[in-house]
Amino acid sequence: MYICGLKFLVILKDTDIQIIASVKEILNKANLNIVIIPHENPDGDAIGSAIGLAEVLNNIGHNARIVTPNNYPDFLKWFSSDARITVYKDKKKKAKSIIKGADLMFCLDFNEASRAGKLEKRILNFENPKILIDHHPYPTNFCEYTISETKYSSTAELLYDVICTTGFEKKITKSAAEALYTGILTDTGSFAHNTSDPNTFKVVSELMKFGINTDKIQSGVYHNFSADRMKLLGYCLNKKMVVYPELRAAMISISKEELSRFNFKTGDTEGFVNYPLSINNIVFSAIFIEKENIVKASFRSKGNFPANKFSSENFNGGGHLNAAGGESDLPLEETIEKFTQLLPGYKHQLLETII
Ligand code: 5GP
Ligand code: MN
Repeated sequence: MYICGLKFLVILKDTDIQIIASVKEILNKANLNIVIIPHENPDGDAIGSAIGLAEVLNNIGHNARIVTPNNYPDFLKWFSSDARITVYKDKKKKAKSIIKGADLMFCLDFNEASRAGKLEKRILNFENPKILIDHHPYPTNFCEYTISETKYSSTAELLYDVICTTGFEKKITKSAAEALYTGILTDTGSFAHNTSDPNTFKVVSELMKFGINTDKIQSGVYHNFSADRMKLLGYCLNKKMVVYPELRAAMISISKEELSRFNFKTGDTEGFVNYPLSINNIVFSAIFIEKENIVKASFRSKGNFPANKFSSENFNGGGHLNAAGGESDLPLEETIEKFTQLLPGYKHQLLETII
């Protein structure tokens, strides 16, 4: 199969292509109001995919609006796109009216409605067609149209192939390409993981043809932190990281007090959990961050140690094999205690992990 003039390195299945054809038929109607919802605590892939899709839909002649469950980091606020984003947590009335007035809903970068936090019920109760585009394993059946492929590095990469399959690739603008590239860049940690499929680089090379400035994007995402955030990172690595070499694991925990000491802003702790994985022989890293009512957990692993399984078994979460998240209802200290008690139970698997 040929797509965008290149031989298509088939990741999309025939069933996906049929679903995409049905979605295209819906999009053939004129002037639809469309709401796009990414997951809670949106990351670069969630925001980048939402912006890329909104731009394309608007260029086809629809009115696409993005509603995020909560705020997203400043390092995702430099996009040149004029796609409009409403944060539900900050502007409930406006967000509700956008959702209520929508003829169609796209859910991006999550696999179950609960991942949209406070928007869960509004998604489940939405009466018009819902379309899921996602790359997480085990999608639940909460949308009429589900396009879900775990082989993609990111929802942004999948979305690019979906757009090409609809034949709307000519509607991709430079700023849409910039947003989609950002999704791929951030979900692969600057092409450091999840990049074993050549399709990722094929899509990147096609996005680059739109004239995007990849150096500028790299700076926008990764060279855009506050001094406080850098100091918080230094503090976490120096004072808060616990390494369990005999278990090939490491853990960082941060309390609310520590966050406020470093003037915490949304997104400041993003990526911290990855650092311990650069220690020789460490294959599993966890971070526990004290929030208002819960402790948010993030897990990263190397090789075949399943971070998502560890999270679903112990912290009511999930995600990908090597990047997962969850939460704990226990106070921070008890959460840390729980984690340290759990780890030895995984000793065999951790020691057997092949990288
Ligand atoms: P992060 O650690 O960056 O928040 O998330 C890593 C991965 O785990 C992402 O793919 C994200 O969607 C998933 N994830 C994060 N938190 C949760 C959670 O509470 N529940 C589930 N099921 N997945 C999560
Ligand atoms: Mn993603």
